Amino acid sequence: MSIFRCSLLVLLLTAAGCTPAPEVPADLIFLGGAVWTGVPGAPVAQAVAVKSGFIQAVGTDREVRALRGRGTEVVRLGGRMVVPGFIDSHTHFIDGGFQLASVDLRDADSPEEFSRRITEFAQDLPAGTWITGGDWDHERWGGDLPKREWIDAGTLLHPVLVSRLDGHMALANSLALQLAGVTGSTTVPFGGEMVLDPDTFEPTGILRDEAMGLVSRVIPEPTEEELDRALDAAVQHALSKGVTQTHNMGTWGHLDTFRRARDDGRLKIRIYSVVPISTWERLRDFVAENGTGDDRLWWGGLKGFVDGSLGSTTAWFHDPYADSPGTSGLLTTDTASLRRWIVDGDGAGFHVIVHAIGDQANDWLLDVYEEAAETNGPRDRRFRIEHAQHLSGGAISRFAAQEVIPAMQPYHAIDDGRWAEKRIGPERIKTTYAFRSLLDAGAPLAFGSDWTVAPMDVLEGIYAALTRRTLDGANPDGWVPEEKVTLEEALTAYTWGAARSGFMEEKVSRLQPGKYADLVVLSRDLFQVDPVEIPSVQVDMTVVEGAIVYRREG
Ligand SMILES: [Zn+2]
Repeated sequence: MSIFRCSLLVLLLTAAGCTPAPEVPADLIFLGGAVWTGVPGAPVAQAVAVKSGFIQAVGTDREVRALRGRGTEVVRLGGRMVVPGFIDSHTHFIDGGFQLASVDLRDADSPEEFSRRITEFAQDLPAGTWITGGDWDHERWGGDLPKREWIDAGTLLHPVLVSRLDGHMALANSLALQLAGVTGSTTVPFGGEMVLDPDTFEPTGILRDEAMGLVSRVIPEPTEEELDRALDAAVQHALSKGVTQTHNMGTWGHLDTFRRARDDGRLKIRIYSVVPISTWERLRDFVAENGTGDDRLWWGGLKGFVDGSLGSTTAWFHDPYADSPGTSGLLTTDTASLRRWIVDGDGAGFHVIVHAIGDQANDWLLDVYEEAAETNGPRDRRFRIEHAQHLSGGAISRFAAQEVIPAMQPYHAIDDGRWAEKRIGPERIKTTYAFRSLLDAGAPLAFGSDWTVAPMDVLEGIYAALTRRTLDGANPDGWVPEEKVTLEEALTAYTWGAARSGFMEEKVSRLQPGKYADLVVLSRDLFQVDPVEIPSVQVDMTVVEGAIVYRREG
């Protein structure tokens, strides 16, 4: 028995022998819990000790209690669960911070409610202030796209550009169109589309993908102070959800904001700051001057887009949409440029991360990744495909074969699953959000949220991956249930898999001595909870690098 215990307790400072070293007391210990370590072969323990920001020991209560000294803070878990800090591998983090303070249309389920919320929000804002964010979803009221007439009367003094929750289309009001000089005869840029009223040939206010830039370019840039506030709000929100690291798919302005916070000691979360792939040469120059950051904030990733989204009918498929036979999607970036950026960015040693949703977009991208790897020679490059949502039969095995990381968001499956079949038919949904097939084929799955497209809520994501119950309740046994994963697999994709997708798995993501003490206390042991109840489990405490950065009140 004692030999067994000894093997569980791996001490940082005493690799040999079973006697703990009381002369090195822990800063913080967790006792009496259900600890899921994430370590293959040794996933379960009772207790964890933390010292100087690192995991000091993981083992039984008795073993860890021996590390208690005068100044040690003791957290009694009483059966609650400890897991490695959650890693959200895909967020639009600063946008999320702004969204926390903007109009919320996510669950508006009628045109009246949509209009009422915007009107009410405008009443409290100084005249001239832009109303953005929103995250509306027209599928909630049957699929009619909103029109500017719905909101004009309530927003005479406020320009509005509110987005669909996938960020691939937006509604502008008349004032916003007027400020931007957009009319029915405005030329729409490549990769975009402007919806016109069939009678008047005037814009309805709906702008898709690149056409959103016609209006968004006249929105004043946020000030540094506004960006800092948005970041701080996003960090607080993330920590309250147990997220200790995220990969921000964003801009250079975001990177500047993160660096300010890092320099001020305000960055309580780890961030991998990814910049647009079209700017890879700027990244090359920036890295030559500034390096690639540290374990709290790092960069070196490049983000591109092949196509749009399913919800906006702009994901790029081999075959036309079932409900819009005139289209099979839209390329949001001209493929010749994107191909060149991928090959050159990879050739310069950077980490290439590209959005692909439709089956043709995924096939195209897998081809280009293959070409880039051949051109630039072997290395640990970890190409990522963001969303990897609809895959052709041949694509699934290519992820493993080419070592491409599918970076996926389980919440999207239970959200899009409400109406995806209407859009692409019964055949193509079989390889939609194919988590199970990808894992079985050996693909290195990473999970995330895509906040603000979906809520930044890992427990909701785990629930989605385990149950595949669509949000409308129409699929109690799961939508395409063959693609469900296990709890252990979902946790791994939100910890080790996500860490690996940002080159951080050696330092975090498993509760092992010597790794950073990034961990989360959950109100219940997920392995004892019916998967259907997982969303009701609470995050009680979040720890980053040994510091308790969130504690649930009450
Ligand atoms: Zn995204």
